[in-house]
Amino acid sequence: MASRVEEVYAQVVHRNPAEPEFHQAVHEVLETLGPAIEKHPKYSDYALLERLVEPERQIIFRVPWIDDEGKVQVNRGYRVEFNSALGPYKGGLRFHRSVNRNIIKFLGFEQIFKNALTGQGIGGGKGGSDFDPHGKSDNEVMRFCQSFMTELYRHIGHLTDVPAGDIGVGGREIGYLFGQYKRLTNRFEAGVLTGKGLGWGGSLVRTEATGYGTVMFAESMMQTRNESLDGATVVVSGSGNVAIYAVEKAQQLGAKPVTISDSSGWVYDPEGIDLELLKQVKEVERGRVSDYASRKAGAEFRTESNVWSVDCDVALPCATQNELNEEDARTLVKNGCKVVSEGANMPSTPEAIEIFQDSKLLYAPGKAANAGGVTTSALEMQQNASRAKWTFERAEEALSRIMKDIHDDCLATAEEYGAPGDYVLGANITGFTRVADAMLEHGVI
Ligand code: NDP
Repeated sequence: MASRVEEVYAQVVHRNPAEPEFHQAVHEVLETLGPAIEKHPKYSDYALLERLVEPERQIIFRVPWIDDEGKVQVNRGYRVEFNSALGPYKGGLRFHRSVNRNIIKFLGFEQIFKNALTGQGIGGGKGGSDFDPHGKSDNEVMRFCQSFMTELYRHIGHLTDVPAGDIGVGGREIGYLFGQYKRLTNRFEAGVLTGKGLGWGGSLVRTEATGYGTVMFAESMMQTRNESLDGATVVVSGSGNVAIYAVEKAQQLGAKPVTISDSSGWVYDPEGIDLELLKQVKEVERGRVSDYASRKAGAEFRTESNVWSVDCDVALPCATQNELNEEDARTLVKNGCKVVSEGANMPSTPEAIEIFQDSKLLYAPGKAANAGGVTTSALEMQQNASRAKWTFERAEEALSRIMKDIHDDCLATAEEYGAPGDYVLGANITGFTRVADAMLEHGVI
């Protein structure tokens, strides 16, 4: 890293102790910005970098709720409003036992650049709680969501901050959160949350968008080498919202996804994932991937090793951060994998990314490859503002066009800065310059 960014990074580590994922996300961006700062010295003026790495606002709050046994439970809620240079803060809510300030800050920081890449006029934010929805009844989830929103509502709004889903937050949770927001404010403010139900302000394709977009991005990368997903073998990790619709789009494009996973193990299904069964088990029954394997002839549930050990042409990490390490990256490269497109946020460790970049494989970071979710959230806000309802085809066409633009913008920037084919540098510098230019024009705030 050039000395200017090294200095800023050292300050981040010093001022945010014990936040390793946040450090990792900041490092990953800063280490690629050198050429942009060298070419445009204005980017190191007015403490721009120091302001960029400091969230505009961080909210932490108590979330008390009563479980089905009548016992009081206490969780912690977070909303980090990181950067509003390009528009209202926008980013999902994550409910998972591993959530803490460090995790929300890393996700919020990534979100700034991702949202800038979409070109949709949205700032970056993220939130969530250490509440674990696994094994909770619908009523418990509802009481938790109502308590969470009872504090969060005063900080959000369609022109201020617009949360959505992430790990552990899907349509059910967004419904309960929206209901409580509406009750507290006495306003049907549809644009305050995205990922809403289709009958009350949601957009078609929002559910599918992140997984679809990740696969569309992989297809665009393959096209640069005159290849395509048709006939490709694909490995997918995760079995949630992103993974399911990555499987669906990959199949639509003629590929064969052969794996899925969750935190208890993974499934190898050599004949190809049965999408209907996967949706039934995960979306309807809220079951596990082991349930899928027990009902699908030829599929095996495994706890040894992981999905990255399977021979493939394309790898789609769609579960969680740092799920793909150096050894996994070596295995993928050795097995001839050609493309890695990240559906999850920061799923590859820095060591794994280095291996991908030293190989011939095409590697797209999550902030570019999984931007389809937030893109379609912005399209949902657009529909809410104009009281319009787009068809599935129109929304998917818009998603596809924007994913292609993001791909092409990343490539063009990489080329401009002398690093052809480097999607990491391309994504970071494209997102950074859009945000940085707006910050400079807004003055020191
Ligand atoms: P879901 O909650 O729907 O699914 C998450 C999946 O990942 C589950 O299969 C879960 O398994 C698995 N998982 C989570 N943590 C771990 C872990 N520590 N080890 C192994 N498996 C794990 O979440 P999403 O599909 O929405 O999100 C997946 C990823 O995509 C996240 O990184 C998220 O930030 C990112 N993303 C999501 C977007 C969206 O629109 N939803 C937008 C952009 C990015 P288990 O049930 O066992 O926990």
